[in-house]
Amino acid sequence: MKTYDIIVVGAGILGIAHAYHCLQAGLKVALFEKTDYPRAATARNFGQVVPSGFATKWQSYGRESLDIYKSIQKQMDISVRPGGSIYLASNAEELVLLQELWRINQDNHYNSELLTRSQCLEQFPGLQPSYVLGGLYFPEEVTVDPRQVGQRLIQYCIDRYDLDYYPHTLANEVSVTNGEVELVTNHKQQYKAQKLFLCSGNEFQLLFPELFQASDLQLVKLQMLAIHPPADLKIKSSILTGWTIRRYESFQECPSFRSIKTREDETAYHRQKGIHILFKQADDGSIILGDSHEYTPIQQPEALAFDTDHAINQFILSEAQKIFQLDRALIRESWQGYYCQSASDDIFNQTIDQHIHIVTGIGGKGMTASLGYAKQHIQQVLALNSPIL
Ligand SMILES: Cc1cc2nc3c(=O)[nH]c(=O)nc-3n(C[C@H](O)[C@H](O)[C@H](O)COP(=O)(O)OP(=O)(O)OC[C@H]3O[C@@H](n4cnc5c(N)ncnc54)[C@H](O)[C@@H]3O)c2cc1C
Repeated sequence: MKTYDIIVVGAGILGIAHAYHCLQAGLKVALFEKTDYPRAATARNFGQVVPSGFATKWQSYGRESLDIYKSIQKQMDISVRPGGSIYLASNAEELVLLQELWRINQDNHYNSELLTRSQCLEQFPGLQPSYVLGGLYFPEEVTVDPRQVGQRLIQYCIDRYDLDYYPHTLANEVSVTNGEVELVTNHKQQYKAQKLFLCSGNEFQLLFPELFQASDLQLVKLQMLAIHPPADLKIKSSILTGWTIRRYESFQECPSFRSIKTREDETAYHRQKGIHILFKQADDGSIILGDSHEYTPIQQPEALAFDTDHAINQFILSEAQKIFQLDRALIRESWQGYYCQSASDDIFNQTIDQHIHIVTGIGGKGMTASLGYAKQHIQQVLALNSPIL
């Protein structure tokens, strides 16, 4: 039986982040993934690393993640691309929120710049003059390629820190005996460790069915699309627009947020389907567009239709055309992704028998905040257990 200091189950970004920080602490780590590489939420997202979208606590995890992504990128191309993020206001209310967020970020010492309408139009060719009234630009933020970044981070951990990676390996049983964790895989192999982090996304019902049934996790379905843009369109930054300003947590800390929200029409189609319009240009030139959000208790996944709702995709495209000149754009691909989030907390983190840590439910924050969150989580777990590890 092979023995490690730490076992991590699930090679999504949260599992990779936990493995990375344990390796950095000098521990011997094994990472188990049931598919070849991450193919769930971690491979299906936008890849916008946007601490600007989070309230203060998670913004600091996001800023820590930014530093880690950038420092790894200096050593190996893990697909981190500079360019910043811009929030575009389409009316006076959204403009007020941008100004208020700018002030909050001044106090938090997080760099951002207010842009006038003409600066936005000059810096973002293709933007519709009829849409934009002003912008708030975060120059330090980056994007990653979700189809690459997980694989490359795993490879980095193997090359640099001797991570043992077990793809195509399902964690079938986990238990604690005599103060050690035992893991049995679908290949009937057994492994031991001092601690196990279960970062299995939506799927821990197999290992802890009762806890899963009792949890307040919600399953969220998101629709995304990639389009062939007009040949000359280049979008250098992550673009976040008016409905995002009305949705993201960071803006909820703005003094005017509450009163602005009370004036919204909750029956509007975009509110019903949780739609806001985001853009990112991928390395191959295609524009990634999204997204919608539909929710169900995690115990009732069948409440979400398994097929793609084409009306949602058409709506996202037609709204995007009001923001950027995309008249001749054709949908190249569309897909859906799922993540889970806690209804009552900002993450789901439960410890079983002192040695098994279930960490999931990071919601829509994972690509931005996992590396920073896992850093403090590992420090906390290791500090509590310093005589053991
Ligand atoms: C469409 C979409 C857009 C998004 N956009 C952004 C964005 O721009 N910025 C941002 O910050 N966040 C974004 N997010 C959120 C982000 O993608 C998630 O927060 C993050 O990927 C969650 O990572 P995770 O590791 O918790 O879960 P997952 O990515 O679901 O990974 C869990 C892994 O565990 C494995 N697993 C499960 N059970 C077992 C088992 N028993 N044994 C072995 N392996 C197992 C699964 O195969 C999977 O690979 C987006 C999400 C979606 C869906």
